[in-house]
Amino acid sequence: MLHILRLDRPIGCCRLLVPCVYCGCVPFVAFIPVWVVVTAALLGGLMFGSFLNVCIARLPAHQSIVTPSSHCPRCGAPIRARDNIPVLSWLWLHGRCRACHARISIQYPLVELATAALFMACVLHTGPVWQTLVDAVACFLLLGLAVMDWQTMLLPDTFTVTGIAVAFLLKVFAPGIRFHARVAIRTLEDAAIAAAMLLLVWALYRIVRRREGLGLGDVKLLAMMAAFMGLPLALFAYFVGVLSAALFAVVLLARHKARGSDRIPFGSFLAGAGILAIFAGKPAIAWYLSFYR
Ligand SMILES: [Zn+2]
Repeated sequence: MLHILRLDRPIGCCRLLVPCVYCGCVPFVAFIPVWVVVTAALLGGLMFGSFLNVCIARLPAHQSIVTPSSHCPRCGAPIRARDNIPVLSWLWLHGRCRACHARISIQYPLVELATAALFMACVLHTGPVWQTLVDAVACFLLLGLAVMDWQTMLLPDTFTVTGIAVAFLLKVFAPGIRFHARVAIRTLEDAAIAAAMLLLVWALYRIVRRREGLGLGDVKLLAMMAAFMGLPLALFAYFVGVLSAALFAVVLLARHKARGSDRIPFGSFLAGAGILAIFAGKPAIAWYLSFYR
């Protein structure tokens, strides 16, 4: 039997002594000190952040993320293993290529640090349980999509559509769940309703304004978020995303940095709001609903 741990108290003590929610036993993993789990999340986050940089650079351009191996975009020199250590190599080389001294964007170490920070936040938020894995995968995809949309106005299917499939598998094959069919239907239902709602907005805008206000990538992104975090949190993220994107647009217009016909990367705001929803969505929704009691 797989033992499921759940943290019923915040991580404050030095060890995770939490009984399994099903049988009450305290399995071996519970005796791992908190700092070991958090350090593992930090190192894993830095490594996955490094991989995320490759995805961000190549997926919108429809390039393979496997071959060729990492190389300098200017001189083409392959990046050796010792120059590929997350964050440290960038600092050691003063943000330049070892061969041609071309500048390497600060975005690389920042994405690595952000991924590590999000993975650690996931562990501290729920403790080392299955949901932590679900949250960490969602954070990885959302961070990548936020950066890709900001830079290229593209939300690649490799992240959104694959993300829906990964969320489905993580939910249905979560250890300890008893009603696999019910979880499967619920997950698909959440994704479909979220997609349908945004598709309606997309279609209305197209009919009224006779041009596209939203990309279909945004529709797939919201469906992916609903598959990972459920419909209520995805809707909360949509609300925050629309609000922050509108605020951003107003500031741009007021400063004459944009015209009314310019497009803004809504997917970046939506994905950013999705990350916020993972950590703060439930208390925010509960706070809002408290006004109606
Ligand atoms: Zn170079």
